[in-house]
Amino acid sequence: MNKLSNSLGAADIATALHPYTNARRHEEKGPLVITRGEGIRVYDEAGKPYIEALAGLWSVAVGFSESRLVEAAHNQMQALPYYHSFAHKAHEPSIRLGEKLVEMTPEGLDRVFFTSSGSEANDTVVKMVWYMNNALGRPEKKKFLARNKGYHGITVASGSLTGLPYNHMDFDLPAIPVTHLTCPHFYRFGHEGESEAEFTKRLLKEAEDTILREGPETIAAFIGEPLMAAGGVMPPPEGYWPGIEELCRKYDILLVSDEVINGFGRLGSSFGATHYGFTPDIMVLSKQLTSSYMPLAAVMFSEKVYDAIADNTGRIGTFGHGFTASGHPVATAVGLENLKIIEERDLMGNAQRMGERLQAGLRQYADHPLVGEVRGAGLIAGLEVVADKATKRPFDPVGKVGLAAFEIAHEEGMIIRNVGDTLALCPPLIVTETDVDEIVACMGRILDRTE
Ligand code: PLP
Repeated sequence: MNKLSNSLGAADIATALHPYTNARRHEEKGPLVITRGEGIRVYDEAGKPYIEALAGLWSVAVGFSESRLVEAAHNQMQALPYYHSFAHKAHEPSIRLGEKLVEMTPEGLDRVFFTSSGSEANDTVVKMVWYMNNALGRPEKKKFLARNKGYHGITVASGSLTGLPYNHMDFDLPAIPVTHLTCPHFYRFGHEGESEAEFTKRLLKEAEDTILREGPETIAAFIGEPLMAAGGVMPPPEGYWPGIEELCRKYDILLVSDEVINGFGRLGSSFGATHYGFTPDIMVLSKQLTSSYMPLAAVMFSEKVYDAIADNTGRIGTFGHGFTASGHPVATAVGLENLKIIEERDLMGNAQRMGERLQAGLRQYADHPLVGEVRGAGLIAGLEVVADKATKRPFDPVGKVGLAAFEIAHEEGMIIRNVGDTLALCPPLIVTETDVDEIVACMGRILDRTE
């Protein structure tokens, strides 16, 4: 390959292995090189604008040109570009952001541990829970319950919790003790003739039977996204989360709400747990925490979990876990400013109002011959395209038509994501009525051109 090529695309093909990409296809197709962003739009090398209807990777709350975040990063870079929090060290931005997160998150989540990514945060959860149960003298209580199609990241432990084939296949995962329960998506996994209430009941029975079969004394935690996002935008059936919470309390199992996408207003409520009415022991946050201008994630947890861990560090000498960039000052300064913007501009309220408009607008396509189901909550939505509307029969192979729609979307000047044959939308929280109407109209054109 010519190393002196002036084309960015050629250089990319020559050097990179892309995440979540078919590498051989990429060698033929090359990248869409994005060069700048403004509001809800990004622009490619040729200057073509795209509505970023997935907010990057479900993550940019404040849009792609927020100067206050640039200033926050600049100011922190000048004052203290890097420091850490190992061995009793601390710095103001991570302390202030920790305080802010304790204030914003639901009652009972009074402690924070920072990482740089959602995957690291979920690995941290696994290790904290194991460490805690060893400290409490119950070393056999180590297993996790998760769900098929759940997404919790890609590192060895978080990738094990994830319930998607591509994240396990040929990576030899799962590598930690985890049982994946049925995906709580009624449209796809409800049985013929079963009501939504019966579906919920069946899933709760499956969860309880699993706990009893494996032994409650071996199950440490249940982890789930309140609304399953990356696996295909799947809201839970009515009553599911309160039922899961009840089981967790009954069998002394920690309830972990993975809100890496759901958090900070995405569903039209402050957090996913608030939206579906349950109280987690641990909550994982990332993405919209900094609008992804800087890599940052936070594990929020209860005083009970903290105390068990803290006592053990007293006994054995230290908490032997932490990253060079845990609570990085520039990332936490940007996170704090981002949360201030979300509050000052009432972006969670905007997400609720614009979310209603988006959901109502997209539901007009429920009758479209290609569309099996339109679903979502707040500013996250999915349209599943099917080969046969009446029988819900998927296209063969699954994902072929979704990929075609994804590429048509590029031609139409909009970036979406296809999760198999589900077309996912998750626009920035700053969207206006005009933006939402434009996104909805564009989806109509994409559907009409897709075959
Ligand atoms: N958890 C959830 C719910 C996610 O959606 C994601 C990423 O999409 C992750 C964890 C992993 O985060 P990261 O990609 O930052 O490692």
